[in-house]
Amino acid sequence: MNVQAQAQAQDMVFTKQPYIEDVGPRKIQSMNFSTLSESEISRIAEVQVYKGQYYDAARIPIEGGLLDPRMGPNKEGICATCHGKFDSCPGHFGYIKLALPVYNVAYRDNIMNILKCICKSCARILLVEDIRKEFLKKMRNPRLEALKKAELLKEIVKKCNSLTGSKKAFKCSRCGYINALVKKAGPPILGFNHERPNSNDGTMEEFRSAISHTKDSKTVFSAPTFNLNTVDVLALFKKMVDEDCELLYLSDRPEKLIMENIAVPPVPIRPSVIMSGSQSNENDITERLKRIIQANASLRQELLEASTASNRLAGWDVLQLEVAQYINSDVHVPLSMQASRPLGGFFQRLKGKQGRFRGNLSGKRVEYTGRTVISPDPNLKITEVAIPIQMARILSYPERVSHHNIEKLRQRVSNGRDKYPGAQVVINADGIYGAKKQIADALRYGDIVHRHLEDGDIVLFNRQPSLHRMSIMCHRARVMPWRTLRFNESVCNPYNADFDGDEMNMHVPQTEEARTEAVMLMGVQNNLCTPKNGEILVASTQDFLTSSFLITRKDTFYDRAAFSLMCSYMVDGMDPVDLPTPAILKPIELWTGKQLFSVLVRPHANVRVYVNLTVKEKSYTKPNKEGEREKEAMCPNDGFVYFRNSELLSGQLGKATLGNGNKDGLFSVLLRDYKAHAAATCMNRLAKLSARWIGNHGFSIGIDDVQPSKYLNERRLETISRGYQGCHEKIKFYNEGKLPPETGCDAAQTLEAEITRILNNIRDETGKVCMKELHWRNSPLIMSQCGSKGSPINISQMIACVGQQSVGGRRAPNGFIDRSLPHFPRKAKTPAVSFAALYHECLNYARACYVLILVFLWDLIPNQ
Ligand SMILES: [Mg+2]
Ligand SMILES: [Zn+2]
Ligand SMILES: [Zn+2]
Repeated sequence: MNVQAQAQAQDMVFTKQPYIEDVGPRKIQSMNFSTLSESEISRIAEVQVYKGQYYDAARIPIEGGLLDPRMGPNKEGICATCHGKFDSCPGHFGYIKLALPVYNVAYRDNIMNILKCICKSCARILLVEDIRKEFLKKMRNPRLEALKKAELLKEIVKKCNSLTGSKKAFKCSRCGYINALVKKAGPPILGFNHERPNSNDGTMEEFRSAISHTKDSKTVFSAPTFNLNTVDVLALFKKMVDEDCELLYLSDRPEKLIMENIAVPPVPIRPSVIMSGSQSNENDITERLKRIIQANASLRQELLEASTASNRLAGWDVLQLEVAQYINSDVHVPLSMQASRPLGGFFQRLKGKQGRFRGNLSGKRVEYTGRTVISPDPNLKITEVAIPIQMARILSYPERVSHHNIEKLRQRVSNGRDKYPGAQVVINADGIYGAKKQIADALRYGDIVHRHLEDGDIVLFNRQPSLHRMSIMCHRARVMPWRTLRFNESVCNPYNADFDGDEMNMHVPQTEEARTEAVMLMGVQNNLCTPKNGEILVASTQDFLTSSFLITRKDTFYDRAAFSLMCSYMVDGMDPVDLPTPAILKPIELWTGKQLFSVLVRPHANVRVYVNLTVKEKSYTKPNKEGEREKEAMCPNDGFVYFRNSELLSGQLGKATLGNGNKDGLFSVLLRDYKAHAAATCMNRLAKLSARWIGNHGFSIGIDDVQPSKYLNERRLETISRGYQGCHEKIKFYNEGKLPPETGCDAAQTLEAEITRILNNIRDETGKVCMKELHWRNSPLIMSQCGSKGSPINISQMIACVGQQSVGGRRAPNGFIDRSLPHFPRKAKTPAVSFAALYHECLNYARACYVLILVFLWDLIPNQ
C-alpha cells in the first residue's frame, strides 16, 4: 500500500449514509403519499406476527410474537435481522394477516364518498356518460388547484348522491343494477348500509303509496338495508377502472383504504419496559396489537365453524372495532369492548398539545432566554429594555478577544461567573476552561469569552400571543437592579402589554450576524409603523398625552427657572439645549407651554429637524364661515395643532398629534421626513419630560371629580323624570291599544323601541349637561379630552346616570321569571325595570361612585 492510499484510508469516515454517486443536483419531480397496500406491507415486513404473547418463561421474546427480535432489539438485546444494537438498528416491520378485511377508520368518509358514487354491481361511476366526461375533463385540468379539485369532488359526490337519493330507485346506466342511498351504519358498527329496494322499483313505489295514508306510515315503512361488507366493497374497489379513480380525485387505488394486512411497527417505537420480577410494561400500541391478534384468532375460529356464509360474523365487527381503535382510540365502542385501562391509538400519539406535532416538533426549548414580569420605566429610551442583574449574570454573549476589548474581558474573566460584570466561560485554542483569575492573565487575541450581558447588548423582546411581527422586537439591554423587565410605555402598544402582571420573554442572539440582522429587521426604531396600514404603533400613551395636553394649554406660562428646569427634564445629562426667545419679555420674561414643545421637537440649533404639520384635535371646531382657513388656528377650543418649522404655533396637543393610530401625527411626520431616529428621540424626550412634569404637577382622580354640583343634580333629576314620564305615556297608550305600530313591528316591539329611544336620550342629554358644567381641571374630563383614557360617556355615566343598558340592542333580558331582576314587579314595562340609573337608590352613593371610577380606569364598560 503506498503512502497516499494509507493517508486516504486514515481520512475515511464511516457513516450510515449509503454511497450516492455525485451526478450534480437532482430535481424532485413529484411526490406521492399513500397508504400501504396488502402486498407492500407483506413485502416490507421481516416477520409475520401471529402470537399475542410477549415473552416465554425464560424472559426471551417469543418468535412470531409481538416483541419478536426480528422487528428490532430491546434496550439490551441484538436485532435478529440486522444484528445491530438498540441505537444502531432502525427497527424492522412485521405484519399481521387479517382473517377478513376491515375498513381503515381514518378513511371512513372517503370510502363512503366512493361508495356513494359507484354502482354497487359493476363498480362504474353512477353518472351518465356525457356528464361523466364533462367532470373528468374538469378534473384533469392540470392548472386546477388542489383545493378547487376537492370542491369539484364534493360536487360530483353531491350529484351522485342526488341520483340515488331521489324517491325513485336509480338504475345503473351500464349494468341496470338498482342503486340506492349509502349511509353509515349506526354505531358501534363501522360499516355502511345500502338502502336498496328489495325487488324492482315498481313494487316499492306501490307499497309506499299504499301505506302513505296510514297514520304511522313513516315508522313502519323503511327501505330494507343491506350491510355492505368489506369483502364486497373490496371486490368493488378492485373492479374500479382507473379513469373513475381519477374522476373521484383518488391519487391511488381505492382498495388501499381497506386493510387486509396490518403493519406491525418496529419494537423501538413501542418499547417494552421490563419491570422487576417477571413483569413487563408494554406500550399501548403493543397492547392494542395483542387485542387485534386475539380478535383475529377468534374470527378465524368462527369462520371454520360457520356453516353458512349468511350468518353474520360477530367476530368480524369485533376485529373491525379493534383495528379502528388501534388507529384512533376515540372511536365509539360498546362498553364490553373497552380496554381495562385507556390505550391510546396512533391518532392519540400525534394529536393534541402533548402530541408529536405540537409537543415534540413545533415547540423547541431554547437557551439564552429570560422571562419575568414587566413594569414601566419612562426614563428608558423606547429602544431599551431594562434587564435585572440576576438575569444578566446568567445570560451571556460570546465575545472574541481583540485589542479593543482585551482589558475589559480580562476584568470580566477575573470577576468570574457569580460577580456581575463577569463571564461564564472562556474558549481558547486549547479547549474550554472555566472562568478563573489565572485564565484572565492568559487571555489571548482570538479567544472567545462568554461574558455576562452588558449595557447596549442586543436582545429580542417578545410577548405572547405573538400576533404580528411587532410582537417580537429588538431592544438594547440596560442592566439594572431589581427583578422586572422594564421598558418605555410608548412600546406597550405593539406588544399589547400592560403592567397588571404580564410577563415577557427575552432572547439573546449569539453571533454578530444575528445581532446585526436583529437590529436592522426587528429593531424598535425600524418598526414604529404597523405594516397593516402604515399607522404609527409605537407612540405616546396615557400620562404622556395628559401632561402634553396640560403643558400646551393656552394660558400656561413659565418663568426662566421653571422653563429651564423643564427643558432639563427632557434631555440626557450633558445634552445642550437652546432656550427660545421668551414669548413675553416685560415685566418679566415668560415662556409658554407651547414653546416647550418647540424645544422638545428641536432642542438646539444643531438639530436639523424642521417639522411642518397641521392636525385637527378632538376639540377642534370648524370656523363659522366657509373658506376662512386662516382662522383655523384661532379655534376657540385650541384644537387646531399647527407646527411650523418645528415651532408649535397653535393647538393643545392630544392623542391625534402624539398618539398611535394616526398617519399624520407628529411622530408619523418625523418618521416620514426625518427618519426613525428623529421620531424615536423625540418620543424619548416626551416620555422623560412628561413623567417628571406630571410627577411634580400632580394628577389624580377622586370622588370629588364625579360629584355632581347642585345645579347639575337638579337638571339630571329633571331630565330623568321627564324621560320616565314619556315612557309611562307610551305604556299607557300601549295598554289602551292606541300605540301605532312601526313598520315591521308589533305593538310590543314598537313600545320596546320607543322606550329604548327615550331612555337613550336621557343619558345623552344628561351627559351633555354635565360635560358643559364640569370644571376644566376635572381629571376625568382632561383625560377624555386629550384622549389618554375614557370617553364623555364614561364621565356622564359616573356623574349623572349610568343610563339604559342594552344587551344586544335590547333592554336587559328577563333573566328571572317575567322580570330582569328579582326586586321588580313581574311583567312590568316601566323604565325602572331596567334603568340602572337607580343605582344610588340601591347602593351607597359613594360606593357606587367608587365602583364606577374603577370601571372607568379599567375599561370594564365598553364605550358604546
Ligand atoms: Mg395584562
Ligand atoms: Zn435491525
Ligand atoms: Zn352498474
